[in-house]
Amino acid sequence: MYINSIKSLFHERLISHYPVQEINSFFHLLTENYLNKSRLELALEPDLKLDQKDADLFLDALSRLEEEYPIQYIMGHTEFMGRRFKVNKNVLIPRPETEELILWVLNSNSERTELDILDIGTGSGCISISLSKQLSDARVDAMDISEEALRIAAENAKENKAGVNFIQSDILTLKSLSRSYDIIVSNPPYVRKSEKSEMKNNVLKYEPDLALFVEDEDPLIFYRKIGELAFIALNKSGYLFFEINQFLAEDLVKLIKAIGFDSVELKKDIFGSDRMIRALKK
Ligand code: GLN
Repeated sequence: MYINSIKSLFHERLISHYPVQEINSFFHLLTENYLNKSRLELALEPDLKLDQKDADLFLDALSRLEEEYPIQYIMGHTEFMGRRFKVNKNVLIPRPETEELILWVLNSNSERTELDILDIGTGSGCISISLSKQLSDARVDAMDISEEALRIAAENAKENKAGVNFIQSDILTLKSLSRSYDIIVSNPPYVRKSEKSEMKNNVLKYEPDLALFVEDEDPLIFYRKIGELAFIALNKSGYLFFEINQFLAEDLVKLIKAIGFDSVELKKDIFGSDRMIRALKK
């Protein structure tokens, strides 16, 4: 089968699901992934013929994309902070907003060394591994309730040669953190179930509920618990960082201040939404 026929087939079958640009981007991600050929290389070989095995890979991917299955799960990996992370249905696909959170953590601590860091709800390990790589003298712990997620996170740490200590634990039932830290960071579940109607199928149908959703009656449950544990476990001048739900920013600032933190600051993401918060323990 010719590569151009596959490309036409992608457009034909996906146009009712995605914009043209996104279909092109899927197609080129897959040519890189399956054929190791960039967009440019491909343009120079318009008559490239695929053997049955390669053609089947594209056709299988096409069927999954028609079901709105995320491209990152199809390929089994994604990029985050310039590094490759394995992903599967047990972990949330790392988002660009979370890269912004990492940059804020790094900028806030550029003069400090030998930091003790904890990431709560690490998922694929994207936050803990990126921090461990960027801060080579840091000591990084990462926690998650899901054993399946921790398995992927450990593989990601190994592939990226990052020294992260993974801990399986349910933060909501934890009485205290076992050591003290300079930085505690978390991107916990924060989407209210009532917000489901505004979400895209690829997220809603295939990404893990455990990593995404909270009850409408108590949407800040993770922030309250993590905030309380962090206020005790953080060293003097330690920082707490959260990724947050843009619609709950004001309530969160109030909550974090009520726990006792100082200089609670909000920060917007590239899309202009209140997306992260930083709090100082004096
Ligand atoms: N930003 C994610 C989304 O909108 C949610 C991440 C989370 O719940 N922590 O899909």
